Amino acid sequence: SEALTRAESLIRTIPDYPEPGVMFRDITPLLADASALRTVIHALIAPFDGDFDVVAGVEARGFLLAGAAAMEAGAGLVPIRKAGKLPRPAASVDYALEYATATIEAHDDIAAGARVLLVDDVLATGGTLAAARTLVAELGGVVVGTAVLLELEALGGRGVLGDVHTVFTA
Ligand code: 5GP
Repeated sequence: SEALTRAESLIRTIPDYPEPGVMFRDITPLLADASALRTVIHALIAPFDGDFDVVAGVEARGFLLAGAAAMEAGAGLVPIRKAGKLPRPAASVDYALEYATATIEAHDDIAAGARVLLVDDVLATGGTLAAARTLVAELGGVVVGTAVLLELEALGGRGVLGDVHTVFTA
């Protein structure tokens, strides 16, 4: 739609951030625009038709989208955080980054069998969302969908995740 095309045009590409050779997709101009924000939140959750109890967002930009999506859908909100940020993590999953490993954690605020929609801003290699799926499963939640604002196709995340809903691709 025209509204989605306009929203996409508000994603800013920043060369050589955070390091040389990386083209960083910056979604903050889109978030700052009321109409674009509303448009992309609707597009992010539309395929799932309200069929989830909780939206789980991945730190940090995933929080921004997950909060808005949860309110819009009438669902709860669960933050998935980098290691060491939560006072009572109940599960923890390690995953590989390009030259290091990372760990994500969550509290046990997901009821057994709760239907969880996983949300992040950008899908690159898929490592983060794959780990987030494992984390939700360890807490007893059922991941009913994985949704991102922007998929960077060249990085192959879809091959890792399989089923993922993306609003924009680049
Ligand atoms: P992956 O685990 O799929 O390789 O990387 C995805 C994670 O890195 C997401 O949490 C996402 O926020 C972040 N990320 C990777 N590349 C970009 C980018 O170009 N822009 C933004 N905003 N985030 C990125």
